[in-house]
Amino acid sequence: MALRFPKWSFGPACLVLVSALLLSGCKSSRKAASSEPSEKISVTFDAGDASSSKSSSSSKSSKTTASATSSSGYPAREYYGDRWNTEHVRIGSDPAPSGTVTLNLRPAGTSDFVMPCCGKILSEFGPRNGRMHTGIDIKLEKEDPVYCAFDGMVRLAKDYGNYGKVVVVRHENGLETLYSHLNSIAVKLNQRVRAGDRIGGGGKTGNAQGEHLHFETRFKGEPFNPRLAVDFEKCRLKSTTLTLHDNSY
Ligand SMILES: [Zn+2]
Repeated sequence: MALRFPKWSFGPACLVLVSALLLSGCKSSRKAASSEPSEKISVTFDAGDASSSKSSSSSKSSKTTASATSSSGYPAREYYGDRWNTEHVRIGSDPAPSGTVTLNLRPAGTSDFVMPCCGKILSEFGPRNGRMHTGIDIKLEKEDPVYCAFDGMVRLAKDYGNYGKVVVVRHENGLETLYSHLNSIAVKLNQRVRAGDRIGGGGKTGNAQGEHLHFETRFKGEPFNPRLAVDFEKCRLKSTTLTLHDNSY
């Protein structure tokens, strides 16, 4: 069974970030996007946290509409319309992506990409122990700051099964990013966030063996390998655009 998980984002809060960085072992943030050719990725798998809370499938009755924001304020309406579910990571009835789409990772008027957290990669996206690991695991220490990757709006922020404390942010560029196993959540549902904003503090809530960030990137609900967009060793984007195909998910 494929596990479904979402994505992240990050925004500005320079002083907070600088302070947090000085105090924490989670290196770096605020790396600007750069244009580099994509590289072939060597993927390895290891045992680790579990992947997932089963996404509940959905129905209109399970959808929650933001009360504080008009539907016209939701990011990426061109891809999602006014669908804004604040209960689940993925809603089964939402249309899945199809065909090839190229996303601008630096839309006009938005902030530069910021790494959620830089650290040792503990586990890659892909099959793991007979299940699909729908994100990438990055080592961190308890309460190390976790930053939003792109500008956007918090679609989900709560304790959610195997994910533990999790935040999902929908971004202006159409992506969603997911940050899980947090020890604490620093943002509120429906809150507008910028790349580099602190999403929360790292931890091991939910199904996690030790402190790490489980980071997911999703488009229209479908998780894809975050390495398609992010160079985790250099802590920056691989390119200012991202092209996804049917076989990317
Ligand atoms: Zn994970």
